Amino acid sequence: MKIGILGGGQLGRMLLQAAANYVVETHLMEKDPDCPAAHLCHHFTLGDIQDFDAVYAFGKGLDALTIEIESVNVDALEKLESEGVKIYPKPSAIRTIKNKVTQKEFYRHHQIPTADFVITENLAELAKHTAFLPAVHKIGQGGYDGKGVSVLNDERDMGNGFDAPAVLEKKVSIKKELAIIVAMNAFGESVIYPPAEMIFDPVWNLLDYQISPAILPEKILWKAEAIAQRVVRELNSPGLFAIELFVDENEEVLVNETAPRVHNSGHHTIEANYSSQYDMLWRIMLGYPLGNPDPILPAAIVNILGAADFSGDARYEGLLEVLQMDNVFVHLYGKKKTKPGRKMGHVTILHKEYTDLTYKANKIKHLLQVKA
Ligand code: ADP
Repeated sequence: MKIGILGGGQLGRMLLQAAANYVVETHLMEKDPDCPAAHLCHHFTLGDIQDFDAVYAFGKGLDALTIEIESVNVDALEKLESEGVKIYPKPSAIRTIKNKVTQKEFYRHHQIPTADFVITENLAELAKHTAFLPAVHKIGQGGYDGKGVSVLNDERDMGNGFDAPAVLEKKVSIKKELAIIVAMNAFGESVIYPPAEMIFDPVWNLLDYQISPAILPEKILWKAEAIAQRVVRELNSPGLFAIELFVDENEEVLVNETAPRVHNSGHHTIEANYSSQYDMLWRIMLGYPLGNPDPILPAAIVNILGAADFSGDARYEGLLEVLQMDNVFVHLYGKKKTKPGRKMGHVTILHKEYTDLTYKANKIKHLLQVKA
């Protein structure tokens, strides 16, 4: 089979690493010829994944297509789908999720628990909703990694909102942030990975480290799993999905957002689970039986981010010390240039004791630095 990937970042890179276990001809399109995934695919196409003609020309003649980022040209994917190319997930699911406005309306329509919200078209309209504060303003399209998200605590913050179609969402008193990956095949059979708990860095608003399986009271676990499975059932599409959830102070579980693709919260599944999220997606696209998502051992993920104040050719400090540690797996994404906060790699730690995971996660965070 000939299968294409739109987007060539680290997720595409790890997806291609897993493809090497199967008989599949891989194609990849991305506009940066030096992107992390460019040198691992069989056929690289230089092109803009947001451009109709480029995506259509790339997909024509392939058996199937998937995405590693949702900012793709969905019109072209719909045309390809109508001409028989299998798209994972379905373009309709990508369309719903791609825009935070339609994504939130989807949860409301299907009565899937999510923070209460109103839609705002511009700043003038936002100004009418002071009674809704404290809230979080999220731009409909184009935001990623916390950019396009603005916390509005009171009227004085209104100027930090977006002058574009956006969601104004009630601020949640977050106790925990979880992510659950659900995979569904073309027959509607699905498997669910154990939840990961995400801990954020307040400075970069990026993931600091993550533990999986999250330690949760059974009732919260069941609620979270049921919600994640419902999201995927209602999206009604084969593919692999990551559902980000909040647990609030009252132990209510709310959907934050869904990613219709392999996800940062599942990096650890490469070493820590019998079938990784990447392996699982290939199984789905190749029509093979679903894999086993169960954990082999608990895991932590530490992101390797570009250090503050350093921009330029990346240099890794502390790498040898980290590589000497037991049950620690280093993944560098092959990005030549670092800049403050850029995702340059991640480290997965395995151990049966959670105290060992957090100890090593903190140690690695301080040891391993990306400078220029
Ligand atoms: P992105 O798509 O850029 O990752 P998210 O919607 O996941 O943006 O928001 C980024 C972070 O902002 C979340 O992980 C969470 O910590 C915080 N956040 C988002 N929505 C809310 C909310 N309704 N209440 C409180 N905090 C929120």
